[in-house]
Amino acid sequence: MLYVKAPAKINLTLDVLYKRPDNYHEVEMIMTTIDLADRIGLQQRMDGKIVLQSSSGIVPEDERNLAYQAAKLLKNTYNIQEGVTVTIDKEIPVAAGLAGGSSDAAATLRGLNKLWNLNLSIDTLAELGAKIGSDVPFCVYGGTALATGRGEKIKPLPAPPNCWVILAKPKIGVSTAHVYGGLNLENIVHPNTEQMIRSLKENDYNLMCKSLGNVLESVTCNLYPEVAIIKEQMIRFGVDAALMSGSGPTVFGLLNSESRVNRVYNGLKGFCEEVYAVRMLGGRNTLA
Ligand code: ATP
Repeated sequence: MLYVKAPAKINLTLDVLYKRPDNYHEVEMIMTTIDLADRIGLQQRMDGKIVLQSSSGIVPEDERNLAYQAAKLLKNTYNIQEGVTVTIDKEIPVAAGLAGGSSDAAATLRGLNKLWNLNLSIDTLAELGAKIGSDVPFCVYGGTALATGRGEKIKPLPAPPNCWVILAKPKIGVSTAHVYGGLNLENIVHPNTEQMIRSLKENDYNLMCKSLGNVLESVTCNLYPEVAIIKEQMIRFGVDAALMSGSGPTVFGLLNSESRVNRVYNGLKGFCEEVYAVRMLGGRNTLA
């Protein structure tokens, strides 16, 4: 059995530049992996089948699962005779804006590259990943990166300054397509992506906090006011800065002093079931 870690991501920035003729949005976002991860187990099968099992009651265990799609894509592309049993220990909240499904797919690609002795480069795995979903290439590399195009073009960036990340997920699932559909491109306040890149290059925590921005935040907050309330609470409990990740509904807050982590965590726990306190991972995945 081979185990692979599939970490969640947060968006430090998320900008939408325009809508493309192919109907995708041209995006520009800075993402970074955090130490909240699913665990993917991969067990060789000699009968050629792909079988998927998940500890979570809510993710599909058939072809709709992105990890299943990753295994099938590798198997078909490289004509692999063996099969695999994929086991997902789910820790990342589902439909939360944390790319849980994409990360499971990416970890499956990285793990099967080993298990099936394919020796594919990480760039090839990322290219394959783009066929499964726009966030999969980023998750193949992990670490911190600028993602452009529909999210699949990845440029590595330095790891963020050391800090804590508090995450709170209201009890709702958000459809990414629905949120993008509610975006009015004429009327958005763009985040300062360049300034965020500078904060990473200069390892400037305060500038990073000041540069957080997500154009989808106001759309999701209008649809689900509880997201705005969680963000306000987080700020009230004392995080340095807070933002919604991806299309939401998870909100994260940053803290650079460990002594305040418990207070914010416990405060939020009072009215939100799913709260996590984790570190940024920052560096790239090592298992290619
Ligand atoms: P993103 O941030 O990339 O938009 P997300 O965190 O909002 O992703 P996911 O947790 O990846 O959303 O799940 C979105 C949908 O994908 C779920 O409704 C679920 O049914 C489906 N899905 C398919 N495979 C998986 C998987 N391995 N883990 C979680 N969800 C999966």
